[in-house]
Amino acid sequence: MKPTRGQGAGDHKEKKRGSARRLLITIDGPAGVGKSTVSQSLAKHLGYVYLDTGALYRAVAWKIQQLKSDPNDPIQVEAILSHTDIGILPQTDGIAIQIDGVVVEPGALRTPEVSQLASTIAALPRVRAWLLPVQRKFGEACGVVAEGRDMGTRVFPQADIKFFLDADVTVRAMRRHLEFAQKGRDQSLESVQEDMTARDRRDRTREIAPLYPAEEATIIDTSHQSADQVVEQMMKVIADRL
Ligand code: C5P
Repeated sequence: MKPTRGQGAGDHKEKKRGSARRLLITIDGPAGVGKSTVSQSLAKHLGYVYLDTGALYRAVAWKIQQLKSDPNDPIQVEAILSHTDIGILPQTDGIAIQIDGVVVEPGALRTPEVSQLASTIAALPRVRAWLLPVQRKFGEACGVVAEGRDMGTRVFPQADIKFFLDADVTVRAMRRHLEFAQKGRDQSLESVQEDMTARDRRDRTREIAPLYPAEEATIIDTSHQSADQVVEQMMKVIADRL
């Protein structure tokens, strides 16, 4: 039988919070598809907490970068993990990540180097196993929108509602390019698309928890839709379940 959420202790919490059910919603998809914007907006709409799991992989990558360790050497990575403490601090618009007691500056997690490094270390089974309980613990909260690559397939297979966002790579690259430009970062469109394609390839073809839609996921093509339109579409699916 498919495991369901919200039984036992969960039931009690739901009743205390009112009549609407507090759901666990997963949103997966490739880079630049609009997951973060849509997930944040959806969480805000519903009054849920937003879990950006990419930030966790980025934080591990950031620490490896700081220590100048070899991300392709599982032994070095294992040694780092065994001396790393990671914490998730909910904020009004998302989460902050604490590594070894210090909040990592969000901009440091979003550099092109950390993006590539994150997808390299995300292919290591030990890294994924290390982050699994961290994510699941956070998912125990009532009312969560969890965003990543394997939310619906691996981390939260019992999720109440699953979405998978996709879009043409040229559209995704253009969005990311414009986002960088707004932040004053000058990276050519070609280079952004190359980075994105390399990251997608790694994420989709790795042996462990590759990126693909869960069987029950509602697939949404965001190529020609604004974030608001995507959220509206999602809300129609969610409305029946509240
Ligand atoms: O979502 P974001 O682009 O911040 O993720 C950075 C990288 O972390 C991804 O390219 C992917 O390799 C990895 N990741 C993952 N599983 C997740 C979230 C992110 O493998 N659930």
